[in-house]
Amino acid sequence: MPTPAYAALSATTPLVPYSITRREPGPKDVAIEITHCGVCHSDLHFARNEWKMTPYPCVPGHEIVGRVTKVGAAVRGFKAGDRVGVGCLVDSCRTCESCRAGLENYCDTGFTMTYGSPDAHQAGPHTFGGYSKAITVDQDFVLRIPESLNAAGAAPLLCAGITTYSPLRKFGVGKGTRVGVVGLGGLGHMGVKLAAAMGAEVTLFTTSPGKAEDAKRLGAHRVVISKDAGQMQGAANTLHFVLNTVAAPHDLNPFIATLRRDGTMCLVGAPDRPHPPLELFPMLFRRRAVVGSLIGGLKETQEMLDFCGAHGVTSDVEVIPMAGINAAFERMLKGDVKYRFVIDLATL
Ligand code: NAP
Ligand code: ZN
Ligand code: ZN
Repeated sequence: MPTPAYAALSATTPLVPYSITRREPGPKDVAIEITHCGVCHSDLHFARNEWKMTPYPCVPGHEIVGRVTKVGAAVRGFKAGDRVGVGCLVDSCRTCESCRAGLENYCDTGFTMTYGSPDAHQAGPHTFGGYSKAITVDQDFVLRIPESLNAAGAAPLLCAGITTYSPLRKFGVGKGTRVGVVGLGGLGHMGVKLAAAMGAEVTLFTTSPGKAEDAKRLGAHRVVISKDAGQMQGAANTLHFVLNTVAAPHDLNPFIATLRRDGTMCLVGAPDRPHPPLELFPMLFRRRAVVGSLIGGLKETQEMLDFCGAHGVTSDVEVIPMAGINAAFERMLKGDVKYRFVIDLATL
């Protein structure tokens, strides 16, 4: 099926209108008309080949919400008209220990990314993402979006939501935990909302003083301007867990200092260059840990969507037309978005 899309044709050129081919749904496939797609900072890193792994043409987009148009004969649980979502992965090996544990995002052989992975179905040279009118996805990688959630506000849950929800759960965040979130962007604002909804006491670290009031509206109990050494000192040894969502290299040591004994800082931001080195002794003396985390598995993503449905949690979004994507990338680099751009695919 020929499908309109937007693609980057090289690392240094803007995204342009581009026609791709989607496969006809096979027996286990769900065909989806995309209504909304969130704009993740990873889309920008990838379109510009900042991680040195991008095949071109590149059609980004892994925060996909739409309506089912057609299902294969063996599909159970989805029918035409259902509102569904697709996140960062569209397949995995399904047999390794991680896949069997529902952690397809940690598949031993590497999962199939929604865009930029070899396409097992050969519909294109590689997979193409949600900056397009339609997508065909195996039923096991399709999520259910609670009807109570606004479609545009729900789209960013598929990446920003699960990427923050998964580590918050993994590290036991809830009532009685004091959590820090670093960076109030797409991921960070979801981290604040989700941690608050889980009952935690939330401290937001930001480089942007202008975001302080907003952070409190989103659920933060305390805001620390991370460039202010005095404010950082005031937060020393207070937090059980810190979720760091910053998209650029920066000194991690001042945030490690905010952890209590046995505290953990989880890095989810994925800058293209390394952070400055970690200081060892502050970690040794309080048994502090630094870990990474990558999105989440399918089961946990559905759990997160249901949690958001139950708690009325969605992303704060600015809806843009497809043709506005290049301007949106530039504004994202300046931190000028509250707090996620979402493309309205009706404009394509
Ligand atoms: P975003 O909306 O651009 O937000 C990033 C935030 O980081 C900014 O709002 C800003 O917050 C802070 N920041 C940016 N540049 C900074 C700098 N030079 N120094 C200090 N702070 C800076 O990006 P996003 O979509 O949330 O994505 C964040 C990162 O996570 C990206 O690297 C993305 O690729 C990665 N990511 C990882 C996963 C995963 O599975 N691990 C999944 C999705 C995305 P303040 O203004 O509040 O300081
Ligand atoms: Zn993403
Ligand atoms: Zn696997």
